[in-house]
Amino acid sequence: MCGNTASTAFRYNPTVELQNYVNGDFVEPVAGQWLDNVEPATGQVYGRVPNSDHADVAAAVAAAREAFPEWAATPAAERAHYLNRLADLVERELDELAELESRDNGKPVSLARQIDIPRVTSNLRFFAAAGTQFASESHAEGSFVNYTLRQPLGPVACISPWNLPLYLFSWKIAPALAAGNTVIGKPSEVTPATAHRLAELSLEAGLPRGVFNVIHGEGPLAGGALVTHPDIKAVSFTGSTRAGAWIASKLAPEFRKVSLELGGKNPTIVFADADLEAALTGSLRAAFANQGQICLCGSRILVERSVYERFRDRFVEAARGLKVGDPRDPDVDQGALVSRAHQEKVLGCIEVARQEGGEVLCGGHQVKVPGRCQDGFFVAPTVIDGLPAACRTNHEEIFGPVVTLLPFDDEAEAVAIANGVEYGLAASLWSRDVGRCHRVAAALEAGIIWVNCWLVRDLRTPFGGVKHSGLGREGGFEAMRFFTEPKNVCIGLDQA
Ligand code: NAD
Repeated sequence: MCGNTASTAFRYNPTVELQNYVNGDFVEPVAGQWLDNVEPATGQVYGRVPNSDHADVAAAVAAAREAFPEWAATPAAERAHYLNRLADLVERELDELAELESRDNGKPVSLARQIDIPRVTSNLRFFAAAGTQFASESHAEGSFVNYTLRQPLGPVACISPWNLPLYLFSWKIAPALAAGNTVIGKPSEVTPATAHRLAELSLEAGLPRGVFNVIHGEGPLAGGALVTHPDIKAVSFTGSTRAGAWIASKLAPEFRKVSLELGGKNPTIVFADADLEAALTGSLRAAFANQGQICLCGSRILVERSVYERFRDRFVEAARGLKVGDPRDPDVDQGALVSRAHQEKVLGCIEVARQEGGEVLCGGHQVKVPGRCQDGFFVAPTVIDGLPAACRTNHEEIFGPVVTLLPFDDEAEAVAIANGVEYGLAASLWSRDVGRCHRVAAALEAGIIWVNCWLVRDLRTPFGGVKHSGLGREGGFEAMRFFTEPKNVCIGLDQA
């Protein structure tokens, strides 16, 4: 067991050993089991991460339970102070965290520097403020007054995926802590490094012992032990629909709170009356940002038939122009996919598309990047044409740099294709017709609609999906409500 010390030797260290963070200490996994941590851009193992089990989870939950009463009683402004201090430290470590995130995930350092890590700071500051502004309802009627207490739940689990590692991890732990809960965070075992570093920074920020804990390890083992632990009061989960369904099946019989942010197969809908230049730029970004590994990416591009060929040709040309390469290169648009397994999955999906009769207009293959990255997991931006809406490729989430193009004839057909999948996370639509924008936005089955824009995020807005894309909403006061239990108190004024 390691003492209460923060290791800061991440940068360029070839063999990085991560540890769990339990009750303010960095500790090795109880059973001594480890996983390799691989750098996707090089394909090389560069460290190891605990593969925790129920014993590690039990220690973390015990610490969180012990810390809960004092943290829950801490004034919201003081809790906010800790979160703001943590945000300051994340800001101080921007460069190092961006390099770490890129190394762990394969995304360009420039992307992590511009988007991922600044968003962590925003998440922490936003929910620090939200905690101090969160008010509950009061209703007066005749000689009775009702007021609603919103009390923190206790130890909660925050489980996040690998695509936006620290961005999504902090999106959960910030509201949980701001609302007065204690947290056991479990980052993806594929991208654990920045969560470890956040634990170190939380120590430096002075967060009391046991308030924030981090357990590393495989989903079914470490994550499974966490969600089924009887003292966990709520689970906030972002990841695959498959794992979300398993978690829901475990929590439902016990009536424990669960928030599920799951997969997507989002449509981008381009109408002929759109500003086509803006639609092109927007849909290209929506298709390939973060190598297409964002749950909100638009992977089915529906284009009105009268502009289909023009749009298609320009889109393919732009996709061909994206530079794939070493994530450390500031000129690179596309880094590596997150793992060899994921690269194989994505290439397998492209093969399925070919078998279904799709025409690969560009990409469709692995990219060999010379030098340091020769064994990395790179896939060329891929555009597929000629597939019907009802095929596997147009229904299953690929979660990589692969998009399909589909023509449509009118608004009704566009909506029918868009809604014809089991997912319902996000959609973007491009048109200059204001009435149509409102009509289509209302008709689309998704939790998040962008009109003439994509991935504009106001942290106050509700975030989440419908159908197999999830249950519940994150963001703003929705998150504060999730992490608290409402209790109504009714006072009879004339009875005393
Ligand atoms: P995943 O479901 O494999 O893993 C997500 C997290 O859950 C990881 O930390 C993993 O270790 C853990 N986990 C896996 N199985 C578990 C189990 N049985 N019990 C408890 N924890 C478990 O997903 P992933 O491959 O890391 O991420 C990609 C998926 O996440 C895609 O489907 C993507 O659409 C989705 N995603 C959704 C959103 C959203 O906001 N809706 C955001 C990002 C990613």
